[in-house]
Amino acid sequence: MIWYPYVQMKTMKEPYKIVDAEGVYLYTEDQKLIDSVSSWWCMIHGYKNPEITEAIKNQADQFSHVMLGGLTHEPVQKLSAKLREFLPGDLDYCFFSDSGSVGVEVALKMALQYYINRGEWNRTKVLSLTHAYHGDTFKAMEVGDDEDYHFILEAYGEKKDVFHVDTNIPALEAAFKAHGAELNAFIVEPLLQGAGGMRMYDISYLQRARELCDEYDVLLIFDEVATGFGRTGNRFVADLVLPDIQVLGKALTAGYIGHACTVANHKVYNGFYNDDPDKALMHGPTFMRNALACAAALKGIEIFERENYMEKIKKIEEISRREMAGFTHPKVKEVRIMGGCTCVEVLDPKDLEGFQQFAYERGVFSRPFLSYMYSMVPYIITEEELVQIFDTMKAWFNK
Ligand SMILES: *Cc1c(COP(=O)(O)O)cnc(C)c1O
Repeated sequence: MIWYPYVQMKTMKEPYKIVDAEGVYLYTEDQKLIDSVSSWWCMIHGYKNPEITEAIKNQADQFSHVMLGGLTHEPVQKLSAKLREFLPGDLDYCFFSDSGSVGVEVALKMALQYYINRGEWNRTKVLSLTHAYHGDTFKAMEVGDDEDYHFILEAYGEKKDVFHVDTNIPALEAAFKAHGAELNAFIVEPLLQGAGGMRMYDISYLQRARELCDEYDVLLIFDEVATGFGRTGNRFVADLVLPDIQVLGKALTAGYIGHACTVANHKVYNGFYNDDPDKALMHGPTFMRNALACAAALKGIEIFERENYMEKIKKIEEISRREMAGFTHPKVKEVRIMGGCTCVEVLDPKDLEGFQQFAYERGVFSRPFLSYMYSMVPYIITEEELVQIFDTMKAWFNK
């Protein structure tokens, strides 16, 4: 029996069964659907991309996986070298793991130990944003601010190591003033908070965060698991403001195989680089740097650069703004657009009940949550396909 995520199994609606997928399309036995959410935001090149499939097949012919303790291999060497050149600033040291949540755990462990290695045992606290989402494992839940997790965290124990702050600069300044000396890190989903409701905020906030982190000697962590690889209209938000640690996941491996990377800058790496074995980073997931995942990631990045994806994303944003311009409805609270993400927030979550089936019948796969109807499209989408998604969204309100 399958146990599905985020649903009550007893009352769950039967999921759509996918029998094939190609480009932006998912196929069920009786319907062809544009995947408007890129399989939870990762499938940026679309399904069954022949080059990515071939890269995985070629690697599988050599070996699919070897452990990384005491061994290394060419795909991971090439990928690390590629990321060193591809990522901004001195974000050069790649620690791989098997999922975004684990990548966040690694980042938080790194930040805490960075100070312990300096003999500072008092920097045990983390600052994060209200409405943050950083994954489903326990520490990731703790720095997150998802109401659905609050009850389980309460049972787990008092949330004493994490402070949350809103995305306005005076609140941020006050938080640093109050807690700066005991923080090891400030972790954010930069510019776009995804699972917390596609909330968008200004770069000036992150610029100020960078200054405050420097002033109070706190590490700045960008969780770019969702925002990385173009989603906000920037390749990475780290291109605009440099963090000390950046977490990549989702689109990192073109969406084909789960993997993540926690990237540290020189300062963080040097805090571990020592003759003392106790100062090493104690982490090592079994499947870290899986060779198939590395092969998929390398090919994905090659296509991303070669096909000039940033231009495609700019075009997607332009079309999104044009199609949603002037759209209002008494049930709609706000329409938000950034890069390859569009969100229609409704006033009452009940007003989205039934939308998934409505979209299905119109050839679009959508998965609204709470009061958010959104699109996070694959970047290979055509103008007609994009318009079909927005027409479907608008038709729901005007039916
Ligand atoms: C999806 C997501 C994660 C968790 O990644 P998984 O691979 O699902 O564990 C972490 N942070 C952000 C911002 C995400 O969107």
